[in-house]
This record gives sequence, C-alpha cells and structure tokens, in this order.
Amino acid sequence: MRKILLLFVFVIQSFAALSVEELTWDNGDTLLKFLQRNSIPISLYYGLDKEDQELASDILYKTRYQILKDDNNNIEQVLIPISDDLQIHIYKNENNQYVLTFTPIIYQIDNRILHLTIKNSAYQDVYEESGSSTLARAMVRAFKGINFRNIQKGDEITLYYEQKRRMGKLWGDITIKMATVEINKNIQEVFFYNDTFYDRKGRELDNFLLTKPVNYIRISSPFSTARYHPILKRYRAHLGIDYAAPTGTPVKSAGKGTIIFVGTKGGYGNVVQVKHEGGYTTLYAHLSRFAKIKTGQRVNQGQIIAYVGSTGMSTGPHLHFGVYLNNKAINPASVVKIAKSELKGKQKEEFENTIAQYERTVKAALKNHEPNPPKEEDFENYIELN
Ligand SMILES: [Zn+2]
Repeated sequence: MRKILLLFVFVIQSFAALSVEELTWDNGDTLLKFLQRNSIPISLYYGLDKEDQELASDILYKTRYQILKDDNNNIEQVLIPISDDLQIHIYKNENNQYVLTFTPIIYQIDNRILHLTIKNSAYQDVYEESGSSTLARAMVRAFKGINFRNIQKGDEITLYYEQKRRMGKLWGDITIKMATVEINKNIQEVFFYNDTFYDRKGRELDNFLLTKPVNYIRISSPFSTARYHPILKRYRAHLGIDYAAPTGTPVKSAGKGTIIFVGTKGGYGNVVQVKHEGGYTTLYAHLSRFAKIKTGQRVNQGQIIAYVGSTGMSTGPHLHFGVYLNNKAINPASVVKIAKSELKGKQKEEFENTIAQYERTVKAALKNHEPNPPKEEDFENYIELN
C-alpha cells in the first residue's frame, strides 16, 4: 500500500474546528449562483474584469471542488478548479472579508513507464495492467494512425507518460511522451513534442480532428493555461482561442458530432457545445444568435450552428472557441490544423534531443526490468492538511 502526502493549499491555523467538504459542480451552475447560494457577496464576481468573468464561466460540469467550513458552518475558504493548472480561491482576509483570486493548482507530476506483452487487446491489457482507463484512452489517441486490429498476442507495447496527481487523486489528463508498439517484429513509434505527435524523423502524424470554425480576420487572443501576468501581478488563463470576426459571420461546427448545449453560460454569453467522438467537445461563445439547432441534434463538420457576436463578457465581436478532451480544456491549435508540418532547424534539433532523452530513460528502465507502476486502485487516497 502506498501513501502519498500532499500539501493542501488551505492555510489552517486551528485544525480541529474545521471541516473540508468535497462537492461536484452541477450542470448549469455558475459562479454567481454559487456565491448567492452561499451568502458570499456577489461583488466578488462583479469586481472581476471581463477576462476573469469569462474564465469563471469555464467551471466544468462534474468538477470536484472543496469548501472549508468552521464549526458554525461558516465558509472559510473555497477552491474551485477551472483548468488543470488554475483554480478559483475564495477566502477571508485579515478584515474578515471574502476575497477571490485565481491561484495555481499544486500537483505532483509522475513520469512512468509501462511495458507489456499483449495477451488480449492493447486497450484491455493496458487498462488491466495500469488500472487506468485514462491511460488506455491516451494510448489509443497516440496511436491514432495504427490499426489496432493488426496488434496480436505476443506483440509488445511500451508507454512513457506523465501523470498528474492532486490531493492524492489522479488529476487532469495523461500525456504520453513516447509510445512504441512492436507489431510482428515491426516497431512503430510516436513522440510527443509541443502538443503534437511526431514520428522519429520529426514529421507530424495525421491527427487533425477538427477544422477551423469561422473565417476570421485575426486571432485576438491565443490559448493559455495558468500564466503569471507580470503587470497585473496575478495569474490568468484563456481556455480557448478568440477569433475576431464581424457580427453575423457564420460559425461552423469544427467536427461531426452531437449538440449538447444551446443557451447562455455566464460571461460566455450565448454558447453552443458540440460533443465529438474520442472524448472531445467544442465550445462556441459570445454568439449573436443560433442557427436552427437544438440539443441532441447531430451536426456535420462545417455545418453552420450559430453566428458571431459579442454577448456575455466581450470586448467586441469575436468567436471564443474552446476544445475539451475528457472535460479538460486543451489548446485548440493542437487539434485544428491547416496543413501537416515537419520540424526543421532549431526545433528539429530540440526535438531530437528530447526524444533521445526519452529513449535513454525508457531503455534504462527496460534493461533494469523495472516493474510497471502500481495500479491506480492501490493508491490510498487521503488528504493531509497542513
Ligand atoms: Zn475568449
């Protein structure tokens, strides 16, 4: 049995009188409703600037968040994750007044290697050996170009991956840095570099899933996860790409899928969400109006679903386009591409150094017959407050 000690970001002086409650964010809930419900001043929300109000609209359905209460049931602190890296932190300052900030999420990163010989199927064997369906799904994405039916009993798979852990529990998605599969003595490899999968020669692998959702004039704001803003002296994030375009410009579904939401969503204004295969969803925000669509309807790639606008917290007409994989915001630029690229020059050099380092690590582990990581269910989840 393994135990993991983790620092909890709550700062607690008197320990005994406080309790931590873990709750799940409801579908359709908003930060504003949350504050009202818990008698926390709504000025905390209205005091945020436009970008932060938009960010606060990105609390995802089913997000687990924590409330720290004193023995009189008063809320002392609240932590609500809005991405893998950033969370809303509400707490009382020295004047006993509530304050809201965005703070980085503290998590551990484990680099792991899993090596196995196929007994049943690649997916099933990886899942059984690791106890993690997230890892099995990440492997399928990494090997997108490979026909899994060709993988047979006795073939070998090696995965070198990064796993995050927060408060003892798995956190965020898994990043596969390098994966090899030996099919009938024929080795196939993929390497992850700058959000993209490449072959050994630095040629991008075919994994374009989505097309651009709008004819835009320019990108007015790129994607970023938690980033420290040196002038504002605080953390910011932008969980999508903003495409500047005139009001009324058609917005098209970036991929084939099913409409799962049509309506308003806090600072995002009018929003459409589409669910695609492979655990991806896309979000289209600040829309002026919707096309004739409804929840549950199937849409094709390129089908018009709405029109560009400036509803919600927006500085001017633009499309905010978000891409989510297993409910976590990812950089849309990693899945929306115009042409395949091949690494050259300095980047190629850096890529080669990176993959050489991955290969050294994996080789050493295999040579030493290091055991596979413990199964996920063997971790004892507990929170250590300090
Ligand atoms: Zn935006």
